[in-house]
Amino acid sequence: MQAYLDNNASTKPTPEVTEAMVQSLHDDWANPSSLHRAGQKARQKMELAREQVTALIGCKPSELIFTSGATEANNLFIRGICELKPDKKTIITTNIEHAAIKEPCNRLIKHGYNIIHTPINADGVVDTDALKTLLNENQSDLALVSIHAINNETGVIQPYQTIGQLCKEHNILYHSDATQAIGKIPFNLTELPIDAISFSAHKLHGPKGIGGLALQHTRLFPQILGGPHERERRGGTENTPAISGFGVAAQQAKEFVDSDKSPQLEKLRDKLEHTILSQIDIAIVNGAGAKRIWNTSNISFPALGSEAILLMLSERGISAASGSACSSGAMTPSSVLTNMGLDEKTIHGSIRLSLSRFSTPEEIDYAIENIPVVIKKLQAILPV
Ligand code: PMP
Repeated sequence: MQAYLDNNASTKPTPEVTEAMVQSLHDDWANPSSLHRAGQKARQKMELAREQVTALIGCKPSELIFTSGATEANNLFIRGICELKPDKKTIITTNIEHAAIKEPCNRLIKHGYNIIHTPINADGVVDTDALKTLLNENQSDLALVSIHAINNETGVIQPYQTIGQLCKEHNILYHSDATQAIGKIPFNLTELPIDAISFSAHKLHGPKGIGGLALQHTRLFPQILGGPHERERRGGTENTPAISGFGVAAQQAKEFVDSDKSPQLEKLRDKLEHTILSQIDIAIVNGAGAKRIWNTSNISFPALGSEAILLMLSERGISAASGSACSSGAMTPSSVLTNMGLDEKTIHGSIRLSLSRFSTPEEIDYAIENIPVVIKKLQAILPV
């Protein structure tokens, strides 16, 4: 038995996604910029995929820029807007963003930018009153606000509607890294006060190496300079096989978000969480006081080590993740959990379990049988 509970890291492409990619490589491999019939057929396939993806996120096909993933989309927005507004030198974000936001912001500090982190509460939710004050204080120098929609480590849902409303009132562009939201919850960009979102196909059962930046109400400067691809916003021959796979994945994800299947899946996540909490008295669910997406559970087992937990789970066929990253043999604690105020011992023993829409009751039962056993074994070796 296996239980794949690392869907926030990546999801399995569906057979239909794989088929669309193979078909594209086999039949529609011509350059979509070519004028001949083969090229135009490849272009048609690409534009069909663009329509499928934009139907999922609720914007016009012309508003979508295909990128190599959410990392590139985040970089493109931040750098592309800063280049568009060279006289604005302040950005408001949070200190619990994915590295694909954090690092482009860190780079901008070296170029004289002022990066302001909106305070968050102990559950990792943005304080919108504090954000309002920050917007008032910095309005004249603000290039943009970038605050994610759903946290990749805890599944906490940010109040992006309120954040967007505040940004609109202050006439500031609001970008949201929505990588963990798209394909899992209904999301309609046109109906939301959000100017741009980044997202990625491999988080919604599509292929890796493809994602998008959906952009409304603004231009930006391209950051990959080359041909006039993607309406002169991203140079380079389009990755048509991946785009075709993305289109099918988006269409299938839309069927899911339009269905009423997520409460059933949330019950599975809750059963997993409740069982662990009832059997392991040191267990703590991070972000439990906030609104969370149905698929994610971040649990701390203070004083235990997440590497040992993950390795023992892996031996039993259970795939999970930790927020801590191993760099040069040392564990760097998760900045999300650190900034939520958790102590190092608690962070070090934290794991993330993330379901997909294909997670089964059997997989969850298998995880429920094994996780407490593993934790108790480790507690016996390392008494808390
Ligand atoms: N942002 C968030 C919130 C993510 O979870 C991820 C993937 N872990 C990324 C950005 C990066 O996405 P990609 O792998 O498509 O570059």
